[in-house]
Amino acid sequence: MTAAFARIAHRFTAYELVLPGTPAFICLADTCPTHCCKIYSVSLGEREAVRMERASGLARFQFLECEDGEPIALPLAQPYLLSRSEGQCSLLGANLYCGQYEGRPDACRLYPHFVIFLDEATDRPVHSYVEGMEASLERALAGEDPAPFVPLLLRHLECPGFTGPAVGLEAWQELLRETWQLQYGNEFAPAEGGATGRASSP
Ligand code: SF4
Ligand code: SF4
Repeated sequence: MTAAFARIAHRFTAYELVLPGTPAFICLADTCPTHCCKIYSVSLGEREAVRMERASGLARFQFLECEDGEPIALPLAQPYLLSRSEGQCSLLGANLYCGQYEGRPDACRLYPHFVIFLDEATDRPVHSYVEGMEASLERALAGEDPAPFVPLLLRHLECPGFTGPAVGLEAWQELLRETWQLQYGNEFAPAEGGATGRASSP
């Protein structure tokens, strides 16, 4: 995987490869100088909006960017945006941890991890689901040659939370699988919970 990432690292300069032995991620929300909930806008889809409604008891206008009281639906795969106020997500708690942790969107569950695949035939990264990807992932998780696609678990360098003990093989495998499930479409993603990534709950 190190060699595979080296072939496309110039395209992902804000990311670093996560392998067994990488320091574990621990969210440092209350002291974080970056704070992803402040600097990023979060997009979400219909399934995630429903999950937030159920988990929080909030109506959509209370957590989505709206116009004239109606959620703004952008022409994107993830049509909604979490509402923001005072330069941060409106759901961020006063303690700087997520105020709606159970209902938070997939992007919040995913961050600061991310999975890409290298297509060995073209030497290019693959960002969206293509046939054969899952089989390659399973081969990689079994320690076999994953060809034709090489899954690469990355971390966003701006997040300072990688301060924990070294991640063991099993924990790394679980993280890779869960990040993949969150990232690559509803048919693989858990409908509720099953979070990976940021642990923003106090
Ligand atoms: S996930 Fe990373 S960037 Fe976001 S608050 Fe936690 S430590 Fe900071
Ligand atoms: S983790 Fe919570 S507070 Fe942070 S952006 Fe997501 S929903 Fe908002």
